[in-house]
Amino acid sequence: MKPRDILDNIKRRFPNELEYHQAVEEVVNTLEDEYELHPEFAKYNILERLIVPDKILSFRVTWTDDNGNVKTNMGYRVQHSNAIGPYKGGIRFHSSVNLSILKFLAFEQTFKNALTTLPMGGAKGGSDFSPRGKSEAEVMRFCQAFTEGLWKNIGADTDIPAGDIGVGGREVGYMYGKHKKLTGDFTGSFTGKGREFGGSLIRPEATGYGNVYFLLEMLKLKNIDIKGKRCLVSGSGNVAQYTCEKLIELGAIPVSLSDSDGYIYDPEGITKEKLQFVMDLKNLYRGRIREYAEEYGCKYVEGARPWSEKGDIALPSATQNEIDADSATELVNNGIIAVSEGANMPSTNEAIAIFQKNKILFAPGKAANAGGVSVSGLEMTQNSARLSWSAEEVDQKLKMIMNNIHESCVKYGTEADGYINYVKGANISGFIKIARAMISQGVF
Ligand code: NDP
Repeated sequence: MKPRDILDNIKRRFPNELEYHQAVEEVVNTLEDEYELHPEFAKYNILERLIVPDKILSFRVTWTDDNGNVKTNMGYRVQHSNAIGPYKGGIRFHSSVNLSILKFLAFEQTFKNALTTLPMGGAKGGSDFSPRGKSEAEVMRFCQAFTEGLWKNIGADTDIPAGDIGVGGREVGYMYGKHKKLTGDFTGSFTGKGREFGGSLIRPEATGYGNVYFLLEMLKLKNIDIKGKRCLVSGSGNVAQYTCEKLIELGAIPVSLSDSDGYIYDPEGITKEKLQFVMDLKNLYRGRIREYAEEYGCKYVEGARPWSEKGDIALPSATQNEIDADSATELVNNGIIAVSEGANMPSTNEAIAIFQKNKILFAPGKAANAGGVSVSGLEMTQNSARLSWSAEEVDQKLKMIMNNIHESCVKYGTEADGYINYVKGANISGFIKIARAMISQGVF
């Protein structure tokens, strides 16, 4: 079957899974020529086997709130592909979580993990439980109940979950603790753990820092200095915070942040001190980004995203589909020079097409945000070797991995007119590696 027929078939077999269709379509759009060049891919039906997840686990999670009410949520784990290593990918807790979203995330994760050059397959999991507004005790009870549904299917050599939206160090700690209690094993069954029990230095920073390292490589090729560039950042969680931290360190000027209620725009720039306010607000008090505007007297826009503001570089770091065609057009008209995705699939396929048509430097999440899972891979290595590397050592390795990913994208994505199609480069580079591993391991 040809890639386009496979896509049509997937849409027919899994109707209503729109995010999953979108992620698959983005890959199919860039893979057709390469697929033709390798008849063995069609012979072994590699593309369809790589699109459909190996296994999906779905379970009910029952927990009790502080008032004694018994609640249920759904829990899932999509084990997408273990062709090149054990399943690996984060857990998302958010009210919007459904199978379509987890299947798109697991599919992209498989490509991303292949790009890191580390031996990790792809997976993703989560629940429609939202930690927002829940007490500490409720979050702990939920995490423990979720782990009861999942524990038999994960482990240091089978499937290693980590954090994602709504799952940070606190939640990973509770899930890890419950897994240890059930198995009796102190192993690297999760990454993103606390420093005291096997977590890696630089893991919290890795996705944001990695995204900026990738951006630097893109700018370097065009002889553009990041100093003084005004950066539109969305989100205000883990990825957004450390993206801002690295931007500030390099002399760039982050001017926006957001959460699911709205965005702030600070034309004077988010400084180190202001960023510390955001970190305390979000990580300690679990407050809203609106409070930044109240503290520093800048603009706050309820129910909107920052893409109508003027900036040189956009680093979307909140969630999927936060930049649509209209926002992309606005960004282009306002003179954006680069877009580097910290979030997973924050731009719609129509938005990507607009950026590429206008020759904007555009880095897809599966390449630009691979720093998080890369340092998770380094955490796994440290756990197996019973070692703990210094921050400098981990940061150095992170930089090297991001540079390698950038190089692979350039190798496979440079077009006849010299424009680097980073989407195509990332997709082809990841695909070839996984396809070869699948062919070598036989048909099953
Ligand atoms: P966090 O939960 O720490 O932060 C998420 C941020 O995005 C919050 O500010 C949240 O606002 C906002 N947000 C979430 N959902 C929505 C929504 N539907 N609409 C608007 N805003 C929303 O998550 P992370 O920072 O870890 O993750 C952000 C993105 O980066 C995700 O796409 C994730 O998949 C991706 N990513 C994360 C990695 C990691 O290492 N953590 C690795 C690679 C990718 P609010 O507080 O109001 O919910």
